[in-house]
Amino acid sequence: MNLYTINTGHFKLDGGAMFGVVPKSIWNKLNPADDNNMCSWALRCLLIEDGNRLILVDNGMGDKQDAKFFGHYYLHGDDTLDKSLAVHGFNRNDITDVFLTHLHFDHCGGSIRREGDKLVPAFTHASYWSNRRHWKWATEPNEREKASFLKENILPIQESGRLKFIEDDADSFPAGIDVRQAFGHTDAMMLPQMKYKGKTILYMADLLPSIGHIPLPYVMAYDMFPLTTLNEKRSFLTEAAENDYVLFFEHDPVNECCTVQMTEKGVRVKDIFKLSEL
Ligand SMILES: [Zn+2]
Repeated sequence: MNLYTINTGHFKLDGGAMFGVVPKSIWNKLNPADDNNMCSWALRCLLIEDGNRLILVDNGMGDKQDAKFFGHYYLHGDDTLDKSLAVHGFNRNDITDVFLTHLHFDHCGGSIRREGDKLVPAFTHASYWSNRRHWKWATEPNEREKASFLKENILPIQESGRLKFIEDDADSFPAGIDVRQAFGHTDAMMLPQMKYKGKTILYMADLLPSIGHIPLPYVMAYDMFPLTTLNEKRSFLTEAAENDYVLFFEHDPVNECCTVQMTEKGVRVKDIFKLSEL
């Protein structure tokens, strides 16, 4: 199995919303805000090559929203999905599977592209993976989370006939890839976990957006069930410290991966590195 980091650019989100109850005097040292209190975050995806499967985990924000939307979220940086795939000798037509951790726009926006006035799959040969429980949650959204579930990112996947649910197929993914779940950020988010170079790699998605979020109370205000997130963080981080897992960060603006260790203050970062340095 080969793993590749796929950078699809950076975007901005309000620092206060990203750090929940943590005061700005503290979080601003972790990720300094601009004049509008917005901080820069990565949109970092993971590509898994295994035999004849090429599995892309999440796909960034895509490019089909209008200028007002991109003005608000401020997509920036030199990286794009296509450029990043090309670095490793791939293009989007090579992707066999798109694994969607959850259906918030900054994770699945690249799934669908505009072709004239039609919305079509952006990966012409891929199956798109979600789970039934999260799909229902996203397509019948509550008022608080609705702004993150954009219909144009989601419904065309089903209309294209490419949607698959992981629970329908026990052999959905190659051996060595497990699907973990978390329920605090949104309902039934999926976290892929795999063995690679003798290590266990865990893709954190929005359970742990960045290294700065490792202390337990650092939970995003976006989360639907913050105490559930806190308990899930405790459980995943303890397991990661005990087993020396490699945590892969989707949103950390700088750091790709880290290991963690137990300290007297709780679980804290041990080593920071890039996936390619493993
Ligand atoms: Zn999310």
